[in-house]
Amino acid sequence: MFRYLKELLLVIYLLLYSDYYLERLNAIGIGLAVLLFGAMFLALTFALLLTAYIRQTFIRHLFALAMFASAVFFDVYSRVTADYLTYSSFVSLVYSGGFIQEAAYQYRDAILHGVLNGLLLLFGVGLKPRHPLAIANGLRVAAPFVGVLLLSGVLFVRAGEGARGLPIMFTPLAYLNLFAYEALHNTVGPREPVTLARTAQAVGHDIVLIVDESISGNYLDINAPFGVHSNLKQAPPGVAIFNYGYAASIANCSADTNVTLRYGGTRDDYVRINSTLPSIWQYAKQAGMRTVYIDAQRTGGNLQNLMNETEKKDIDEFVQFDQTSVRDRDMAAAGKLIELLNDDKAELILINKVGAHFPVHDKYPDAFMAYRPTLPRGQFTEVADTAKRDGFSGQTDDWVLYRNAYKNTVLWNVGEFFARVFAQANLNNALLIYTSDHGQDLHERGNPGLNTHCGGDPVEEEGLVPLVVIQGEQLHTLDWAAQLAANKDRSSHYNIFPTLLQLMGYDLAAVEAVYGKPLTVPTADAFTFNYRFNARLGATPEWKHIDLHSIVTPTQAPTSVAVEQPSP
Ligand SMILES: [Zn+2]
Repeated sequence: MFRYLKELLLVIYLLLYSDYYLERLNAIGIGLAVLLFGAMFLALTFALLLTAYIRQTFIRHLFALAMFASAVFFDVYSRVTADYLTYSSFVSLVYSGGFIQEAAYQYRDAILHGVLNGLLLLFGVGLKPRHPLAIANGLRVAAPFVGVLLLSGVLFVRAGEGARGLPIMFTPLAYLNLFAYEALHNTVGPREPVTLARTAQAVGHDIVLIVDESISGNYLDINAPFGVHSNLKQAPPGVAIFNYGYAASIANCSADTNVTLRYGGTRDDYVRINSTLPSIWQYAKQAGMRTVYIDAQRTGGNLQNLMNETEKKDIDEFVQFDQTSVRDRDMAAAGKLIELLNDDKAELILINKVGAHFPVHDKYPDAFMAYRPTLPRGQFTEVADTAKRDGFSGQTDDWVLYRNAYKNTVLWNVGEFFARVFAQANLNNALLIYTSDHGQDLHERGNPGLNTHCGGDPVEEEGLVPLVVIQGEQLHTLDWAAQLAANKDRSSHYNIFPTLLQLMGYDLAAVEAVYGKPLTVPTADAFTFNYRFNARLGATPEWKHIDLHSIVTPTQAPTSVAVEQPSP
């Protein structure tokens, strides 16, 4: 047999994933990080080669099989989801098992492809080595352990991040290591069913949680004198609006806030609650409600904000707007909400709006260009959100334009959204809670940079969100007025989940014991948001307190006051 077959197989195998390594290298850029990445890459590749030279056939075959299974798992996951296997998706896969069960038939091409690639690795490691190696056999046996432990260490310190772009056979093995650690410390576990007791009768009305995107509390007229017209300041006839003023968000990144809005969580115990307790859908179904999720941001059935297929199973109606342009999707969401509010069924409805995420150049129609000068139009018409900043350099002048485009977007995606809902929906049997996932850094202080949120050194406005309760005037749900004065400008996202459970009739004392305080009691909230949310393993959260005395608010009224209201 060809004397270098083993080595050749391994080289070909490693080269098959060149794109994956290069993509990571490009993302890292130039700096110290690239050196660390390079060192790690070489160390793991070396560990792989040493493993392939283990003298004892049985031990070598054992490692060949473990690495084969690990690599194929990683490879197939990436092919099926077109996504990198993160540690948290790994954990949810372990508990859902859905991937394995459903994958076999549906994804057989991806599996076949992954297995064929993996065979190169299996034989590359497994075949008998035909060359001497000047390294003691004991060290060769130790090499795969050292490789996995080294990677596990990096992942531990970085809360599960840091394996991207490295030889894939080590990644799931290191994840398995971390998973064992977390299982021993009870921060992961299988998703629990609903166990809280309900005290009330069946819920007879709709409960709606509207989660806007990137709408900063300080840019709405309900909170600031020159805030944008939201249609929430004056309640329309027959409707009561309770404005809880400024609220603190859970985090300054979308996914972190959204997952905690759907699963609940307290500042002290959100990691465990997020990953092991029931979702809001499970609680709603247990309370006899129909569940509807409206995602105006994504299309094509793509899931976001850490939602997975297992969670989706508890959603009776899953709505996205594949055929609607980004600019009109919040209006489509309003239309769908109106239909649901008018259908006389008790439903839990959760909406992720398009809102005002970067880019905001084209998120509103011309008729809503009330604030000028604004960003140039036409380049971003079908971009719901992006992390790219092409065409926006973030100079002080750019931010002046950006803030105007942002306000025009708010006027449309918030003001017009509620105008339509109030005009056409029957709110007699509806309770709505309105908030946004996080606030925005709109660089009012002249601070440099391109980012609006989700950074590691956030300004206070990034965690500043609106919090409004809206209901039919005749509908009796909870006593909102009793604690409004005490809780206004003093509550947070953390109070929403317990409020929803109380609305569904779950026992208040039991809810509070797990999830903290609802808006119906003095919330005594810490008024902080988390900017290091992924705080599992060796990482801890970082909290930013919001001091309302130092919040920047808009100073400029609209340039053109008479906004043309297109008929809905
Ligand atoms: Zn967001």
